[in-house]
Amino acid sequence: MMTCVYCRITDKGFFKGREHVIPRSFGTFGPKTPTLHCVCDKCNDYFKKDLDQALARDTLEGITRYKKGLFSRQRQFPKNLVFTLEERVDTGDYGGAILGGYDPTTGKLLPPVAQFWIRNIQVNEWERYTLDQIKYIKIIDEKYGPNTPGSREMRILAPTKDDYDLVTSELKKFGIPYKEKEILGLPPFLKNTDSKGKVEIQGRIHGVIDKNKKRAFVKIIFNFATYYLGEEEVSKPQWDKVRDFVRNNGEILSGRITQEPFWNGQETDKMCFTDNSYNIRIENKNANVLGTIQFYNLLTYEFILIENYSLTLEQEVAYRFTPGEEPYVGIKMSKPE
Ligand SMILES: [Zn+2]
Repeated sequence: MMTCVYCRITDKGFFKGREHVIPRSFGTFGPKTPTLHCVCDKCNDYFKKDLDQALARDTLEGITRYKKGLFSRQRQFPKNLVFTLEERVDTGDYGGAILGGYDPTTGKLLPPVAQFWIRNIQVNEWERYTLDQIKYIKIIDEKYGPNTPGSREMRILAPTKDDYDLVTSELKKFGIPYKEKEILGLPPFLKNTDSKGKVEIQGRIHGVIDKNKKRAFVKIIFNFATYYLGEEEVSKPQWDKVRDFVRNNGEILSGRITQEPFWNGQETDKMCFTDNSYNIRIENKNANVLGTIQFYNLLTYEFILIENYSLTLEQEVAYRFTPGEEPYVGIKMSKPE
């Protein structure tokens, strides 16, 4: 009798599909691609729509896929990410400008969109607004300076004259006094091209790691636990909180996000792995069971899967997954005395 490791349903007819331990949009791992039979079709569909897509489209990790040559079949634009121009010497005054996103077919960043900047004198930083966001600006003297000539710093960045006119009319519509000075055209560095004649733009991506994204990562860790520790282990009631968090949006697991290297202490500079992989580990730590996951050497996410519980030493497990290659097992090494 098959039982779903997430919702515990036991009907045999509900297990036609297979759950990929690591969502397929992040690649496969040769004949040893880990998949699960014990996730029912309903859970599998739900994960695909709700968690895997959020991870693939709306996270730093998802966007990084493009740079690694893993393209999505979907061509949808991420909603919760903001793309800005890197602040460097050659970007000059334009550093921090809001970009038009990225081209999903190439992963390249797109040029800046029409936008309005106003300097917040309380924090001494520019606030930047796209055309759609101008309506949310509330002009407060304490924040932007008094309405006397030259006291408020404002700037419009517009790729074309039409864009510029759109920004000024939007400002007028919402009663934001803007004194016309000069039109900023396309930044000069946009004329810099690579060997193929394409414009190269360096940018930063900001995103919020919300509960759904955490659930998407924990689902991968729980899938991983199911695959490597077995159904019997993860069917224990101790794993119910993890199940409930992933499947039912239940109580959030404690955890933290760091920029610490994943394989801390297990590699030297010379033995460094490439950054095109996904790392997952489950281990005992401080009387809890800890799950750790990291994609592309970006952020490291740690979650307390079970409090006051221990796996056997043989159950502690770590793997590195590189698209197109077989999974690579992490070997536990004792610290030198
Ligand atoms: Zn299920």
